[in-house]
Amino acid sequence: MTAGSTNLAILGLQWGDEGKGKLVDLLSARFQNVTRFQGGNNAGHTVVVNGQSIALHQVPSGALHPGCFLVVGSGVVLNLEVFLKELENLRSRGFDLGGRLLISDRAHVILPHHIALDQWREGGSVKIGTTGRGIGPAYEMKAARKGIRMGDLLHPKTLAERIQLGYEEVKILLGGSSALPPLETITADLVRLSQPLLPLIGNAQEYLWKAWQGGESILFEGAQATLLDIDHGTYPYVTSSNCSIGGLFTGTGLPPKALDHVLGVAKAYTTRVGSGPMPSELLDATGERLRQVGREFGTTTGRPRRCGWFDAVITRHACRTNGADGLGIMKLDVMDGFAEVGMVVGYRDGAGGVGTQLPACASDWDEIQPVVKLFKGWTAPTRGITDAKDLPAEARHYLAALCDEVETPMAYLSTGPDRAEGYVPAGSFLEPLLK
Ligand code: GDP
Repeated sequence: MTAGSTNLAILGLQWGDEGKGKLVDLLSARFQNVTRFQGGNNAGHTVVVNGQSIALHQVPSGALHPGCFLVVGSGVVLNLEVFLKELENLRSRGFDLGGRLLISDRAHVILPHHIALDQWREGGSVKIGTTGRGIGPAYEMKAARKGIRMGDLLHPKTLAERIQLGYEEVKILLGGSSALPPLETITADLVRLSQPLLPLIGNAQEYLWKAWQGGESILFEGAQATLLDIDHGTYPYVTSSNCSIGGLFTGTGLPPKALDHVLGVAKAYTTRVGSGPMPSELLDATGERLRQVGREFGTTTGRPRRCGWFDAVITRHACRTNGADGLGIMKLDVMDGFAEVGMVVGYRDGAGGVGTQLPACASDWDEIQPVVKLFKGWTAPTRGITDAKDLPAEARHYLAALCDEVETPMAYLSTGPDRAEGYVPAGSFLEPLLK
């Protein structure tokens, strides 16, 4: 396999923050194009290069490789102010994206009233646990045919009229309590902010199709993860886009046959930000230790993440949903030094039956108790290990059981945040790309 003949998707298999950024960064060096296809600035990747930590929210992670062309697909929603800041931050660190960035003219724009609506809802009694950045309302407006697309920014005269459609609705909903800026200000700000981006707007589907047809390699960079997918996640505690495999096709306009491989990414344990079901959650000192050692605090919001043992039930569901060819298992080093490590291998329902299906309804999740299998922990550190033979036997045993449970082979093991910390096991489909 050469990068020139293989298109690869990198998708999260849990509730996000799996460490996809590191893998996208590692792999993007071998790809000619990297594209984002869904999500907004609620997603965040952290990439560590030469000890420098760089957080990316909307710019594809291939930004750090000068040879990579970056595409923001039509399924993405963009906050222009944040996007411009991100570009500036990259530029100030020596990563200039000039000439290698294309934004789909069909991607939607997040507007101030989307953010106001999101925050108004999260301030009420029923919280989804969103980041409050307007992503959900931007997708709602898209579905309601009231959204603003990047291509609309090329027609500033019609902007106010288009924005008004959604703006008036939000104003009615929020009533007198809202401090929404006037429509004229929103429009003027948008016109101003869009100026530096106008030359970057174009037909991303056409670009990607030609790249594919021309034999160029494409890396599809997932944001968030399968259990946050609006259809296949823990609804309603999900994000407002399809962050599993389906979103890749709708969010780029490429057909399924343009994709050759799927790499699913999971931590060696489980985390979740915000509300919603998490059967593996540990509310004790073990959970706290995972949080502290794993630095489990949100890249985007700084919120502490909920932590627990690896949940094989949700991860197998995610592997099946995405058709994962292999697993990238991240942050094994965080589990070093535990006397015992656990793995959720089934769910006990309210009636006492044990199963491995995910319930559809939030109230069914409430009744679920995890069935935890315990494994002997390992004392020797795994941090920085780059060869399978150096792994403690107990860690090897744990990883083999994990792959068995999720019915997917290991394609990469990460043993630290740096690019150099980890390895590709023999026989992995990633071998030709990363060895
Ligand atoms: P993403 O959104 O899936 O890319 O995940 P995040 O960026 O939120 O979280 C990944 C965090 O874990 C980043 O701070 C990475 O530097 C770090 N990280 C990635 N892989 C490893 C690993 O194997 N071990 C440790 N200790 N940290 C890692």
